[in-house]
Amino acid sequence: MTASFDTGTDDLVQPFRIDPFALRGRLVRLGPAIDRILSQHAYPEPVAALLGEAITLAVVLAGALKYDGIFTLQTKGDGPIRLMVADVSTTGALRGYAQYDAAKLEAAVAGARASALSVPLLVGSGYIAFTVDQGEHTDRYQGIVELAGTTLAECAHHYFRQSEQLQAGIKLSVGRAGPGGTWRAGGLMLQRVPPEGGYHIIADDVEDGWRRAMVLMSSATAEELVDPDLPPHGLLFRLFHEEGVRVYDTHPLEARCRCSRERIEVILRSFPADELADMRKEGATTVTCEFCNTSYVFDEADLDRLLSARS
Ligand SMILES: [Zn+2]
Repeated sequence: MTASFDTGTDDLVQPFRIDPFALRGRLVRLGPAIDRILSQHAYPEPVAALLGEAITLAVVLAGALKYDGIFTLQTKGDGPIRLMVADVSTTGALRGYAQYDAAKLEAAVAGARASALSVPLLVGSGYIAFTVDQGEHTDRYQGIVELAGTTLAECAHHYFRQSEQLQAGIKLSVGRAGPGGTWRAGGLMLQRVPPEGGYHIIADDVEDGWRRAMVLMSSATAEELVDPDLPPHGLLFRLFHEEGVRVYDTHPLEARCRCSRERIEVILRSFPADELADMRKEGATTVTCEFCNTSYVFDEADLDRLLSARS
């Protein structure tokens, strides 16, 4: 195991490689960042936990792509949680939110064991989509697949099988394992580096190495993935030391929303004039960011200014 400068053990992506078997991987550890995002809303526990998984999955998947911009993961379903959105920028800014139906959720959760709070129960039938936005005048990459699996990790595996571009495995965990019952999350992803000439030329021992590494990854427990006392290097060493795991520089992550008063003004300015005029009649208008729950108040003078800027 190579030594690397360790600036912390939370809110980071720890890339690693298992060179003998041409495997690349990432360990994601989230502490204060995930707690902040999930605590910004008064989500019921099962919604917060699943949104935490979605955010962790977004970070794990984003690391598999070369891009400069925003990676967004979205689920839509006919269950109690109708929408989840999680996004991560290449600079490591994270955010996410969920929309749910409280009555449906209560009915679904009543009598269900904690272990049964699955994707089919909470999200229902629907799809999971991945988008990469690299700014104006660039192509948007989008992948979309129906929700098939008990967990979001299983849904991601289904996506890998469909896309056939990526051979990979993922493990995710979210829980109130931090100090004072704060949220923590962990994610592991292993992927094969495609050999030149395609997968069919892979030697038997490399094929065996891939299978063994996947078994070792799945042996990581949900507790280990979020354990604040088990640093990333310790966990990777515990799992893969016999395979010759090498760690690389970490990438920091933080909870940071991209909303601002200016951005919301741009949205308001795109509203039809009569809608703005109606808001003006009501007096002050409050716009709340769904991601971070920050409220922006536009008083009558602000709305007058927006109205006159339109004409
Ligand atoms: Zn915001």
